[in-house]
Amino acid sequence: MAFSADPATALDNPILCPLDELDIDPSAPPLEQALTVLKGVYGYDSFRGRQAEAITALLEGKNALAVMPTGMGKSVCFQIPAMIFGGLTLVVSPLVALMEDQVMALKLAGIAADSINSSRSREENVATWRKVASGELTLLYIAPERLMTERMLAALAKLPVKLIAIDEAHCISRWGPSFRPDYEGLTRLSDFFPNAPIAALTATADEATREDIADKLFACNDKGESQGEVIVSGFDRPNIRLGVAQRKDWKKQLLDFTEARRDQSGIVYCLSRRKTEEVTEFLKDNGIRAFAYHAGLDKTVRAAAQARFMREAGVVMVATIAFGMGIDKPDVRYVFHTNLPANMEAYAQEIGRAGRDGAPSEAMMLYGLDDIRMRRSFIDNEGGDLDHQAREHKRLDALLAYCEAPQCRRQALLSYFGEEINACKNCDICLDPPRLTDGTVQAHKLIEVIKATGQSFGAVQMIDILRGLSHEKIKRFGHEKLDCHGSGKATSKEDWRAIIRQMVATGFFKLDIQNHGALKLTEKAAELTTGALRFAYRPDVMGPAELSRPRKAKSNLPELDAGDQDLFEALRQCRTELAREHKVPAYVIFSDKTLHDMALQKPTTRPDFLLIHGVGSSKQRKFADAFIDVIEGWLG
Ligand code: ADP
Ligand code: ZN
Repeated sequence: MAFSADPATALDNPILCPLDELDIDPSAPPLEQALTVLKGVYGYDSFRGRQAEAITALLEGKNALAVMPTGMGKSVCFQIPAMIFGGLTLVVSPLVALMEDQVMALKLAGIAADSINSSRSREENVATWRKVASGELTLLYIAPERLMTERMLAALAKLPVKLIAIDEAHCISRWGPSFRPDYEGLTRLSDFFPNAPIAALTATADEATREDIADKLFACNDKGESQGEVIVSGFDRPNIRLGVAQRKDWKKQLLDFTEARRDQSGIVYCLSRRKTEEVTEFLKDNGIRAFAYHAGLDKTVRAAAQARFMREAGVVMVATIAFGMGIDKPDVRYVFHTNLPANMEAYAQEIGRAGRDGAPSEAMMLYGLDDIRMRRSFIDNEGGDLDHQAREHKRLDALLAYCEAPQCRRQALLSYFGEEINACKNCDICLDPPRLTDGTVQAHKLIEVIKATGQSFGAVQMIDILRGLSHEKIKRFGHEKLDCHGSGKATSKEDWRAIIRQMVATGFFKLDIQNHGALKLTEKAAELTTGALRFAYRPDVMGPAELSRPRKAKSNLPELDAGDQDLFEALRQCRTELAREHKVPAYVIFSDKTLHDMALQKPTTRPDFLLIHGVGSSKQRKFADAFIDVIEGWLG
């Protein structure tokens, strides 16, 4: 395969082919070859999550749908097969910013990649096409509407297209909220390129959406079943420390938090444009480098803020949730919500913008009663049918359950997405458990009434039965005749609500959102009934107001001693300079983790430098000398 120089970019002078040096044995098992590329080009030692499975499927010529949380490393799943296959890989991506980011990172790693898109001039696009046509490019990034023109397809049909990757593949499904009409045309791809496997990638896809994506993108066998492997990776992001606190004096809470993390990049989410500007001013007045970012700002102002955020450490973006869609910065160290987000899905997505590089990061959310009232009225006023509104209210309940979780917050978050984990030791509750009150007796009463009513009613009806009310809905279903009717008068309505939410959060009940939020018993509830488990709850429903101290973040990296920490800072400085020189964000040069490893290992020769985590052969060639200079200077 041919790699070429691209003198037009500031990124690189000669791009050499890293694969030529890697000495890949074509007779070795596919995954072994893939590992050689992972190590040689990216400088990583092992695959993460289920990357290996996705890569294997593609290398075997099968289609694959990879559903992986943001930051898990979806790109590697198609980039490595692209390099091993040779020929041309097409990458369809909806956002120019995402494309440009990946192309930049690939070029720096020595891979011949480029993109044809609307932000480039006609001449640039023509030049890129020439490279495609002459076989010089390995990966071509292109927007769906450009790809699916008859002319483009006819031209590509003459080229050795070996693989097609569809990024943000959920955009093809009408089930999801992000449907894009220009993605629909992609259903025809498998007819045009019957011999190229398709890699579909997404971070957000429930089961219905997954099936829809596979149906639309993958060719069918003679039984009409779509052909391809669906690989779903865990949604846990263990490196993000989770925290939630009641909003007391939010300005102080926010300032304490950001001041303790001055040299870190962060995102602060606010609900309104006006609020983002207010918060930005407030942070700036207090010496924090903050920028407001929302859709109402002038495009150039926004672009400037974004550029600062991408390139410098210690910049805080104060944004409405519209921010972050096209932002692919792996070293965001924290996401701070000044208000309750819309629901669990939104929350998971928003905090997922922290720590994409896998290094320790934090998510802190403030919430208060006025948030809850406001969210409820949003739902009531947004229109839509009553069923829809009821579902949204239940979704909000699930989020409140998360905020009030009496036990491990991560367990509460993941159980909402159908995953079970042990207590995480990296959330505010695990690290600083709240005082709990035994609620086993109340829990038994709830289980009894849920069973007695066939697991088909919501929390309100359960509470009204336990408290002995006799309104119309109680009588209509004969619920006043149940043994448990009136058995819970001693507990207040508010306490019952809190107990139910906390039992949802701890996985004893499931809220059946499709079914008007009916409470369903889980297997864990059965263990309560047998007495194998007890249930304890937080009586202080709204949680302790104290924000957790900025303890040293839990890290799987060994700690640096003071001297090494100095070296680390010097290496960061070197990275900043290189980033400026190459006009790329710092993390594209090396991640913090790579610098950390460097500070520990202190390589002083090029071969040793290659052993550092995250150093591939191309980056070794480009950057080894600069960093070795720093290390030698430090060693004296
Ligand atoms: P996603 O598209 O899933 O959000 P990316 O493909 O942008 O994630 O990858 C996120 C980060 O993780 C990138 O910096 C990437 O280089 C890094 N990464 C990918 N795979 C690995 C791996 N196996 N080991 C370590 N880091 C990895
Ligand atoms: Zn935890």
